[in-house]
Order: sequence, then structure tokens, then C-alpha cells
Amino acid sequence: MPQTVPAYVARERVTHLEVRPHLDRYLKQNNRPLSDFDLGIESVYIPYWQVEGLLLKLRQQTDKRVQVEQYGYAQEETVIEQQHSRVNLAPHSNSVCSLSQAEYAPASLGMRTGNLTLRPLVEENINNDFKLLTPQISTEAAVERVEKQVQNLNRIAGIGNRRSVSKFFGSGMELIQMPYFICTSRDDNGSISYLLDAITGRVETEFRDRAWLDSAVAAASDVQYGSLSLSLHRCGNCGEDLPDSPALLVICKNCGARTTLDGAIDPNITLRAARIEQGSADTFLPFWVFELSDAERARLKHVFGALQNVSDAVVPAFEISNSEAMHRAIVRATLSYSNFTFSEIDALESSYMPVVERIAASRSQLRASYLRAQLERTNHLVESDALNGGQLRAVVYIPFRIENYFLVDCQMGAVTIEKVAVLGRTGSLPG
Ligand SMILES: [Zn+2]
Repeated sequence: MPQTVPAYVARERVTHLEVRPHLDRYLKQNNRPLSDFDLGIESVYIPYWQVEGLLLKLRQQTDKRVQVEQYGYAQEETVIEQQHSRVNLAPHSNSVCSLSQAEYAPASLGMRTGNLTLRPLVEENINNDFKLLTPQISTEAAVERVEKQVQNLNRIAGIGNRRSVSKFFGSGMELIQMPYFICTSRDDNGSISYLLDAITGRVETEFRDRAWLDSAVAAASDVQYGSLSLSLHRCGNCGEDLPDSPALLVICKNCGARTTLDGAIDPNITLRAARIEQGSADTFLPFWVFELSDAERARLKHVFGALQNVSDAVVPAFEISNSEAMHRAIVRATLSYSNFTFSEIDALESSYMPVVERIAASRSQLRASYLRAQLERTNHLVESDALNGGQLRAVVYIPFRIENYFLVDCQMGAVTIEKVAVLGRTGSLPG
């Protein structure tokens, strides 16, 4: 998991004046008296960890086929059942409430996170009327919770003696501060509080015991969040303007100094590009090269079904929108890597696609890809056997050209990647 977690805040849509009508609608629907005259309204941001990653799944399915045989006027039907297993890798994310005692806060934001308008958690974007609660559970504990949810899914999928395997690989983490109102009034049984979503106006829960909330408010530290300053994207060495791109690795056109935006990338890392043997390239795609131990090489050779020895693990450092296409690209690039001829480079041309995948995410992708291949080959997941992928050895750029629906490497024609998964529907290239 990355050391610094990107933090965001969701903006409330319900105003203070609209809180009571929302609450009264809820009370009316539940055939209860409307809210008290002296309704207390507090506003808080509740912190959630958004855990991003990949889900590896094996599901066994039974196909039924009816075979009909005709004998003159008579016919005989035979039902043929065939069992087969399907292995696949797909993106999986979930949010986890990060308060240690959160019985009455929604445990997860569910499907909502995709539709939220999130802004960076900086002074300008925080509504000062809201109390900002601080996360209390660790990012590791949040990943564990998501793993547990996945194991529960696995149990459900495994009902009826079907074999089912699920494994989650965490690759990224974000903090999301969600705005809520807490309305407190009195009824015949004493004080009662309602947690009202400040975006939808919906009452999420009601509670009489405020201990969870009071302890979270008391624990909230006065963290100072920086202000949103315009980061001048300039070379730290000569002051030259750097291209305005999401690239994690940039080389100054003026002085050749390197700037990295992922702390895990050594600025002095070796950069190599493969030569073009024939024709011309449409683009150069970047790949991380991870050093493997001898034992890992042997295992990778076996599970990837290589005919020759495998040297290092090669993982795309550019974005591939489809996890299965990413897996195939890792297998093909790793298997053909030792056949490429590379030369060292010290500048990045405009036809070079930027490095955008973080090392931590790519390592996670490699681990998932290895176990995916193992699962497909053996129908079993041997986790003790997982691949770690040691030192980052280099970034290599491989030239590709577009051939119909695919990007095909220009040196050997051995690495093919679905074009739409890299370039999107528009199919536009950088530079
Ligand atoms: Zn410079």
C-alpha cells in the first residue's frame, strides 16, 4: 500500500434548512410524530477507506446439453452434463468505514462511490460547519475487511459442492470524507438520533446510544490540511516547464534531469528501448521489469507455459482498461522479453506513452496474474507459492504498431494487446 493516501471530500447537497423536511418525511413514512421543535442538528464528515484492487475468481459451472436422436418417428433425448471451470481477473473495489466503533454508520458506501463528486481534501473544499472525524482503523485493517467480504462471497458461490476460489489483491487506497447530519430530538423513550445522508437526504440509521459518535468526535484530531496550491510543474534542476501530463516519470527536454511522481521509482532507473526491426512504430509502450529469484523464474516458466527460460517479469506501466487483457499482456511480454534487443536511452520521445501505473499497483497485478495462471493450470490456488517480484530492474519501451484491433510489437510480432483496452474507443495516440 502506498505511504501517502490520496484524500478526498464529498460535497453535501442538503442544506441545513432542508434537514428537518427530510427527517419529517422519514418519520411520516414510519407513522411517527414529526420532529421536535428543538431539534438538534450536528454536521460531521465520516471517513471511509476506499480499497482498490483485483479479484481473482474460479467458478465451476455445469453446462447442460440435450442431444436428440431420431429413429424414424421415435426420438430419444439424452441430457449431457459437462462441468467446466472459469477463471477470471476483474477490478474490485469497496469502501470501509474507518471509525473503530461504527455500529450506526453505514459499513460501506456501496455502489455510490462511482457517482460521487469528490474534491481533494484541502482547506478550500472543506465545509467548516462540518466536524471532520479522523480515520481510526488502519489501511491494512481495511484491506483485511475487504478480503473477508470476498471470502464470504466465495462461501456463497461454493454452495452445492461447486468448487469456487476467490482472492483479492489490494493495489490502491483512498480516503473519502462523507458528509452526514445527525439530528437529535426527544420522544417518549428519551433522546433519539438520526443519521441523515447530507448528499441524498436519506435517513441511514437511528440510535439512542451515542457512545460511538461521541468517542469519534473526541478522537478527532485537529489535522491541518494544506491549501490547494498550484503546483508549478517545472524541472527541479533547470526550471524548464515540464509537460502537463499524468506521467510518473518525466525527463526534462532541456537538461535531461528526471522527475518522478511515484516515490518508489528511483530517478536513476535504467531506461531502455527496443529497436524497430521492420516498418515504423505507431507508439512505444513502457513496461516495468522486475527481477525474479531463480525459484520464481522456474515457477513462472511452469505456470505461464513457457518453452524457454524466463528471465524477468515484465508488467505494463501504461494503463490497460481490461484486467484480462492486462493479464495476457503480462504473460506475452514476460515470455518474449529475453528475445528483444534493447539499447539504453536518456530521453523520452513524444511517441513514447507515459508511465502511469504505480509500481505498487503493478506488483499487485503481477502477483494476481501469476496466481491466475496457476489457478487455470491446476484448478488450485497455492498461495504460499505467490510471486513477489523483487527489485525493479528497468523501464523498457517496446515499439508497437496498430494492426486492425490490436497493437502488435514491431520487433517480433510476439506481444499483442487489444487496441481498445489501451487507447480507448477513440484510438488516439500520444504525440
Ligand atoms: Zn531541466
